[in-house]
Amino acid sequence: MRCSVCGREAVIKLRHAGLRLCPEHLVARVEKEVASAIRRFRMFSPEERILVAISGGKDSLALWHILAELGYRVDGLYIDLGIAGYSAPSREASEDFARARGLTLHVVSLAAELGASLDELTRLARGKTCSLCGTVKRYLMNKLAWEGEYQALATGHNLDDEAATLLGNVLRWDEGYLARQYPVLPGEGKLVRKVKPMVFLSEREMAAYCLIRGIEYLYQDCPHAEGARSIALKDVLNRLEDRYPSTKISFLRQFLKVRDRFRPPAPVVLHDCPSCGMPTAAEGPCRFCRLKDTVARHASRVTEDRGAAA
Ligand code: SF4
Ligand code: ZN
Ligand code: ZN
Repeated sequence: MRCSVCGREAVIKLRHAGLRLCPEHLVARVEKEVASAIRRFRMFSPEERILVAISGGKDSLALWHILAELGYRVDGLYIDLGIAGYSAPSREASEDFARARGLTLHVVSLAAELGASLDELTRLARGKTCSLCGTVKRYLMNKLAWEGEYQALATGHNLDDEAATLLGNVLRWDEGYLARQYPVLPGEGKLVRKVKPMVFLSEREMAAYCLIRGIEYLYQDCPHAEGARSIALKDVLNRLEDRYPSTKISFLRQFLKVRDRFRPPAPVVLHDCPSCGMPTAAEGPCRFCRLKDTVARHASRVTEDRGAAA
């Protein structure tokens, strides 16, 4: 198999792009796609400071690497969720990556910020693990980006992630989510701009990119991902892609052309949370502060029970 660009030995065949690429041209393609998404969607300028949400997996580490290579002012943020058997190795992979490249990684622990790890929170609060995880991660990422004076918060969502999210939204005809599904979500007040520079790059390309660039990432998935709806949606899309190459990329690209037809949700008036000062859609404490309160009440009950038993 020969590289479509230079004719040397190719290491990957990208049926959806009609390309076979050698290591050098795969790297060039990935970095060019990221640079062009940043320009096309006006994600950020070279003067702005970017915070990348780091999980220790291939996509977030690759994104951090690429943005640093492209010369952007970029730091990483790792949230230690306290998931047994997963958070420790993912934190280690993230810290090793940053140390080896002399990059700045901010590490925050959910236990310190909330008073409980995700595993404990799941036992104490109502709601599914992934939904609670989404709430606390969104809150902490935004808060830390805002407090750290970053102009944009970047995540490593790739084509497979975005196509699966899109399929999920279409299956529910969730108009509000469809209208908001875009590679850039503008910032507003204390809500920092969110950007996804890798939306047109597939999972396979990113795994190959990491291998070629020597990026050591954590192969293991979060234990809670098993059985998640997003995995089933990805599975369906992979099967379609096998039979009809470029299903995912056309699904996403064509959607972006018609997305304006979906009615965005009515604009919400944001209020400052009376406890933490961060924005919240309803008046009163934000969801994170309410969860924090649930954790604190549980802790004080435990202390009282121990006192009574002594
Ligand atoms: Fe959080 Fe669920 Fe993702 Fe695990 S799989 S990191 S619990 S959202
Ligand atoms: Zn080549
Ligand atoms: Zn709050």
